[in-house]
Amino acid sequence: MARRIGPVCRICRREGEKLYLKGMRCLTSKCAFERRGFAPGQHGPGGRMRRVKPSDYALQLREKQKLKRIYGVLERQFRRYFREALKRRGVTGTELLILLERRLDNVVYRMGFAPSRAAARQLVNHAHFNVNGHPIDIPSYLVKPGDRIAVRESSRQLTYFKELAAEKEDVPTPPWLRADRSTLSGEVLALPKREDIDVPVKEQLIVEFYSR
Ligand code: SF4
Repeated sequence: MARRIGPVCRICRREGEKLYLKGMRCLTSKCAFERRGFAPGQHGPGGRMRRVKPSDYALQLREKQKLKRIYGVLERQFRRYFREALKRRGVTGTELLILLERRLDNVVYRMGFAPSRAAARQLVNHAHFNVNGHPIDIPSYLVKPGDRIAVRESSRQLTYFKELAAEKEDVPTPPWLRADRSTLSGEVLALPKREDIDVPVKEQLIVEFYSR
């Protein structure tokens, strides 16, 4: 399964905002964006390109790249999501976000079982989770209302999950999910709504990008 490799913090610096791709590190002073909050590249913060007003195309492209990178999806798969969103009845941009949000790796992250989507993806890949009692190791698996997600019995002895279960507080989950750290399980209560998805993107620009 393909995934993007390379320095993750460059993505935040390129997009000009913190995208919280590295879990707890993002909340510390080690965050690269806190230390060097300008775009990467040899010309540094004052490069000529930084002063040029971006074109509509550039704005649309950046928004698309940002969303892809937040969810850790490569271009071909992202286009598939877009085509699927086009077929749906609702607003295309919102449908795109809902599809991405329903990915199993995102749900594991949202439930607080992993510090980042990248970490959640790895946990899912290593088959640590059941969906409705069946092991699922596909990060792009789309959950639906009523699905029950739980750490597999055979994985509960791992130090990582023991420590997770021992933590006193659950992380806040969006309204469409319920999670319980003490039992290492959770449930999908409904499909997400746009207002439940707190990713900093203007999805209409992405629709415009693919509609050129
Ligand atoms: Fe982005 Fe997190 Fe890296 Fe900071 S530490 S630049 S928020 S990925």
